[in-house]
Amino acid sequence: MPDYAQLDREHVWHPFTQQQGWSEEEPLMIERGEGSYLYDVDGRRYLDGTAALWCNVHGHRHPVIDAAVREQLDRVAHTTMLGLSHPGATELAARLVEIAPPGLSRVFYSDSGSTAAEIALKIAFQYQQQRGETGRTTFVRLREAYHGDTIGSVSVGGIDLFHSTYRPLLFETHVAEPGDAADLERVLEAHGEEVAALVVEPLVQGAAGVLVQPPGYLRAARELCDRHGVLLICDEVATGFGRTGTMFACEQEGVAPDLMCLAKGLTGGYLPLATTLTTEEIYAGFLGNYEEFKTFFHGHTYTGNPLACAAALANLDVFEQERTLERLQPKIALFEELLAEVAAMPEVAEVRQKGVMVGIDLGDHDDVLRMGHRVTVEARTRGAFIRPLGNTIVLMPPLSISEDELRDLVAIAGASIRAAVASAPVDLPQAA
Ligand code: PMP
Repeated sequence: MPDYAQLDREHVWHPFTQQQGWSEEEPLMIERGEGSYLYDVDGRRYLDGTAALWCNVHGHRHPVIDAAVREQLDRVAHTTMLGLSHPGATELAARLVEIAPPGLSRVFYSDSGSTAAEIALKIAFQYQQQRGETGRTTFVRLREAYHGDTIGSVSVGGIDLFHSTYRPLLFETHVAEPGDAADLERVLEAHGEEVAALVVEPLVQGAAGVLVQPPGYLRAARELCDRHGVLLICDEVATGFGRTGTMFACEQEGVAPDLMCLAKGLTGGYLPLATTLTTEEIYAGFLGNYEEFKTFFHGHTYTGNPLACAAALANLDVFEQERTLERLQPKIALFEELLAEVAAMPEVAEVRQKGVMVGIDLGDHDDVLRMGHRVTVEARTRGAFIRPLGNTIVLMPPLSISEDELRDLVAIAGASIRAAVASAPVDLPQAA
């Protein structure tokens, strides 16, 4: 067997990773998955507490999705959506429109959450320009927001640690406080006429550390947008496909956005695929003779990839066949019950939960301790893979996780937090 760890250290640059620390640790080398478990090259198994970065829905190697991808592979792996179409993309678009909030009737494909957000921003901007609202050249974003890592999506992001370095490169925006409708009203009263769209993660700001918005916020945001001629973009990249307990988070507040971004769980967590859904009204704003140049000049090479569309169709089939959302409800209740014990631990400042999105906040610890990271190292020795956001431990398992596995995951998280805090040095090491 090649020395994969050595190859990794020599050649790979990992995302969101300080490579200096990474190269000092033994990388966890995952070879295969099954259901809620990942297996490393030495055959050790780990509960997948991050659902392959928040996107796995029905477990790893689900037979229905596996078969759908294989079948598509026997036809064609990739063509293009620029000048061609294919059955999978058309059927998937129709099925997404069927389950999306009312009014969303058009589906624009891309391949990641970041591109889905970029596309929503560009469509909103161009639509406002083409309907004569030429002064609407800016956006409202929420503090602590996260919509991806490309420059446009970073422009509407608000997590200083990730985003502040790039400020000189970003376009101007107005900022509203997360979950605060009065503040949003203030921002729109002051600047509404300059704003093309408001961008929100509905119900939960995931990358901020699973910040849950108060009930009614999204509905209020919708009403404020309508009052000020501002489009509402809901980024359901993290919340979509059951994560918050309903197919889409918007449903819980009866809100239909003007643009909706989907990615992550769209293919059940199998392959990169994203969509930006919009209304017939916005779509119609791009129609015209060729020489009017109202075209949306945007499209990525792997947009609408047929293998990914096949996985996405199978993902929707499994939602129906296995009654995933119905069977999820008792698991959400059990999760809440189990987390109550974690919340009572002296090492824990707060537990935030919406559906199967959970953030266990360990409170303030010196950065040098890397407390969140310490917890994940402890979890690994106890048979679970989890990933922190700073000092918040995120639990985001596949929706298909069994009740016993859920019990194990929460028990491992609790024990790992206890062990990490107990073993952290009291005399802080000096930062290098
Ligand atoms: N929007 C939200 C709400 C997200 O949580 C993420 C990813 N965590 C993204 C966009 C970006 O998605 P991707 O990593 O696929 O570009």
